[in-house]
Amino acid sequence: MNIPSTPIQEVHLSQLLGSQTSLWVKRDDLIHPTRSGNKYYKLSENIQLVKENGLGCILSFGGGYSNHLYALALTGKELNLKTVGYVRGEYTQGLTPTLQDCITAGMQLHFLSRKEWRLRNCPEFLKGLSLQYPKTLIVPEGGDNPAGFAGTRLLGKKLREQVAQLSGGPVHVYVACGTGTTAAGIIAELPSNCTVHGISVLKGIDTITNNIKRRLADAALSAQCSWSIETDWHFGGYAKFPRELAEFMFDFEQQTSILLDPVYTTKAMYAAVSTIGQNLLPAGAQVVVVHTGGLQGRRGYPDIVD
Ligand SMILES: *Cc1c(COP(=O)(O)O)cnc(C)c1O
Repeated sequence: MNIPSTPIQEVHLSQLLGSQTSLWVKRDDLIHPTRSGNKYYKLSENIQLVKENGLGCILSFGGGYSNHLYALALTGKELNLKTVGYVRGEYTQGLTPTLQDCITAGMQLHFLSRKEWRLRNCPEFLKGLSLQYPKTLIVPEGGDNPAGFAGTRLLGKKLREQVAQLSGGPVHVYVACGTGTTAAGIIAELPSNCTVHGISVLKGIDTITNNIKRRLADAALSAQCSWSIETDWHFGGYAKFPRELAEFMFDFEQQTSILLDPVYTTKAMYAAVSTIGQNLLPAGAQVVVVHTGGLQGRRGYPDIVD
């Protein structure tokens, strides 16, 4: 699939007035109407695999508001590819808007209890699925496989060209991390004047750092840029959206007219803006926050009225 170009856009926030630092947003929320953000890159290489191997179906996993299942279902519809989604939780009380959209797009959904969900990466469970679904590519939750990583390196390459155009001090890139695949693709491509800050949206022990190291090692790559995963910005855990964060998001949106999502991009933006605000980055730093999309997930939050 051809990857469309998206701009990096400078934003000016009142709370950073007078700061020596410039703030940019890589607008991958604009990349595609249904495959917004990083899922576009991850899916592109998996679809390539499906085509090369003459397969007709992609099966994957996700939660009730999964951006990944949503992107997969709508892409499948567009490309005439069958899709199967295994969903975390049983949703006996009714479907989420995201899952409803997946069904409308033709995705076959199956619901797993919390206990069954734990099996989703078990070799035996996956073996059973591959017997049940012949000619099907099984993609892990979040698109976290080698093809997904290869796709996110395309994002890294685009970003590399764009940050080379920025004049000023060192480049600091902020990106939200679930599995860390997207951060890995960026880390793999950025040069030595860049620092990547992976903002974990998960509470608990950091598995992202090792996942990124493994992705790089498996592809025989070593990072030129500096990078680290920051684990203090989860605001209570995955999908938690306390008032302070909501107020930050609404204010950011009002000032910039750029919408964010509560689960990922607001947390990455918050981390960048507070780090700049506390003068923790070198003077003249060029800060780029990657907008990884995910706006359909706003429907999970009744306080957000679009
Ligand atoms: C899935 C997702 C992420 C996390 O990407 P990983 O590659 O799993 O770290 C970040 N932002 C948005 C909007 C997402 O949908």
